[in-house]
Amino acid sequence: MDTIESVAEIQERTRKLRAEGRSIGFVPTMGFLHAGHRSLMRTARERADQVVVSIFVNPLQFGPTEDLARYPRDPEGDARQCSEEGVDLLFMPASFYLPDHATKVQVERLTTGLCGASRPGHFDGVTTVVARLFGLVHPTFAVFGEKDFQQLAVIRKMVADLAMDLEIVGAPLVRDTDGLALSSRNKYLSPEDRTRALTLHRALFAMRDRLRTDGKGADLEPAKRIGRALLDADRIDYLEIVDADTLAEPTADTRSLRALVAAFFGTTRLIDNVGLDL
Ligand code: AMP
Repeated sequence: MDTIESVAEIQERTRKLRAEGRSIGFVPTMGFLHAGHRSLMRTARERADQVVVSIFVNPLQFGPTEDLARYPRDPEGDARQCSEEGVDLLFMPASFYLPDHATKVQVERLTTGLCGASRPGHFDGVTTVVARLFGLVHPTFAVFGEKDFQQLAVIRKMVADLAMDLEIVGAPLVRDTDGLALSSRNKYLSPEDRTRALTLHRALFAMRDRLRTDGKGADLEPAKRIGRALLDADRIDYLEIVDADTLAEPTADTRSLRALVAAFFGTTRLIDNVGLDL
């Protein structure tokens, strides 16, 4: 595995690979890697000649009061995990944006609800960094986790709207053995808060069970009430059941539903979601 710190070098290396006819599977991350990230790398490894992973804590996607400065980092451990997963190129940029960077990529509508409502500008930061990464890495496809379900939808939309020439592959959410969705931010949790955070997935699965009992087309409010009652959080940011494609309120045309939750445990904000296919 080669570790590359320069934007010019990654662009040159991947341009050459594509010119040689090799496929590139790309996994963008913010590091502090765990089994969720590793499952994305495996998906890429199965399908691509070359696997590229990026590790960059993108300042543009953090709000002024968010955790940019204390976001956990472990470059050596991350490099070891990437190497174990058979990654070919690890891109850890020493500097990423041009000094006079002036472009913002903004997806409308899909970004207004859920995480977009409480994190203004967050998705603009995500789409801007991902667009630049795609320009640097020339991927044949890029893998994103369903853990960040809204992010995956927003990136699919950006790629479709801007006719970017790559495929977006969604990968299932990976949970710890006790059910907690794996996240780099779980490191912030005290033991007590971590135990309370288990109510995130319990609430979501209870909602799914209730909807399975109620059947297709049933009122969603009782399931949401059950979810809210089970959540032992300091603050619920949102708990929603939405159309999985539009992330808006379900309609007669809705093909599948998704339950999503964001909540605070202490000062740590966690997200989780589950498919509600009935
Ligand atoms: P992050 O490092 O948090 O920006 O995440 C990088 C990528 O890993 C994103 O596509 C996430 O959706 C994905 N990811 C993070 N946690 C998980 C998880 N528990 N299961 C599956 N994918 C994940």
